[in-house]
Amino acid sequence: MAGMTRPLLNRRLAPFGTTIFAEMSALAARTGAINLGQGFPDTDGPEEIREAAVRALRDGRGNQYPPGPGVPELRTAVAEHQLKRYGLAFDPDTEVLVTAGATEAIAASLLALLEPGDEVIALEPYYDSYAACIAMAGGTRVPVTLRPQEGPVGGAAEGRYVLDLDELRAAVTDRTRLILLNTPHNPTGTVLSRAELTAIAELAVERDLLVVTDEVYEHLVFDEAAHIPIASLPGMRERTVTIGSAGKTYSFTGWKVGWITATPELTGAVRSVKQYLTYVSSGPFQYAVAEALRLPDSYYDALRADLRAKRDLLSGGLARAGFAVYRPAGTYFVTTDIRPLGETDGFAFCRSLPERAGVVAIPNAVFYDHREEGAPFVRFAFCKRTSVLEEAVSRLRGL
Ligand SMILES: *Cc1c(COP(=O)(O)O)cnc(C)c1O
Repeated sequence: MAGMTRPLLNRRLAPFGTTIFAEMSALAARTGAINLGQGFPDTDGPEEIREAAVRALRDGRGNQYPPGPGVPELRTAVAEHQLKRYGLAFDPDTEVLVTAGATEAIAASLLALLEPGDEVIALEPYYDSYAACIAMAGGTRVPVTLRPQEGPVGGAAEGRYVLDLDELRAAVTDRTRLILLNTPHNPTGTVLSRAELTAIAELAVERDLLVVTDEVYEHLVFDEAAHIPIASLPGMRERTVTIGSAGKTYSFTGWKVGWITATPELTGAVRSVKQYLTYVSSGPFQYAVAEALRLPDSYYDALRADLRAKRDLLSGGLARAGFAVYRPAGTYFVTTDIRPLGETDGFAFCRSLPERAGVVAIPNAVFYDHREEGAPFVRFAFCKRTSVLEEAVSRLRGL
């Protein structure tokens, strides 16, 4: 048949054929293993927010195409949230855009802001959609690697992944268009510090770069860590697209309600692409998320306390099982090093773990261009019920 000798999937996307998550989730289903691979909660978010979605559906709000930029109630709630939490003022009409999850916000931002051949600096290990979206836009990704600070210091679970600022500076060329950030960072759990963000901001201003920052874990920070939006630093508001999402914060990952906040010019550029991707999405859920964004501080405090306890439960269990553990300051993932177990290949380890211990995890190497840098690291998700984590910990003890 004509055309069939050529591969069907285009060259830009061919390297991203199937995700590790599909393989590992299938493995979990086949073996009955506990799936700590994919990062979604196993319980739903607040009942009153679920009810708000039901109400919107019944009242006929959002059942037909909502406005392209998102329903006004949600855009206003997003603007209020940015102002209340970070002192960042955005006009809900011109500086907020609702998207089909953070995933679409990432895709639309990169497709809007990149010309073919532009370079994008991304923190490695990176969220898997970044590489695919940079490729779709015809851009070139330039990874800057986060590395564990001198092993897990001060005991089993203290180390932190850090950004090498010299390496970041050296990565900028005349072709660099933007820096793609993610803080709190999946999969390492690092929360970029004010010093790190200030250095990135100074570089962006000096070299006239845009910043797209994925802050979907903004509320999932623990202990003394604080999330700082880079848009709040001097010179950054006018060059930053900030991405948020309801999925992780409110435990409704299936609703796919995300947003960007940025200047009218940047928002307009991203909207130009977004209108031809999904046009609009998640009508009734947008009204429910508007209510979620106004939940009292006690909601966020309880969410953090719950996840912090789960982090400690899983981290402690992994350390006792022999892993070196990098205690995350944010997100609901914990990255481990398998070398103390006498292992070096995270892929092989994760493929054998369901048989050996009845648990599924993700090899961090999939989040690297420099696969060898990520080879011994393995990620576990702790956004699961306590009983599930306890069972996983007890199974891992047999390793
Ligand atoms: C889960 C996740 C997303 C996707 O968010 P959605 O709102 O579900 O599209 C984006 N970025 C990171 C780092 C994530 O972990």
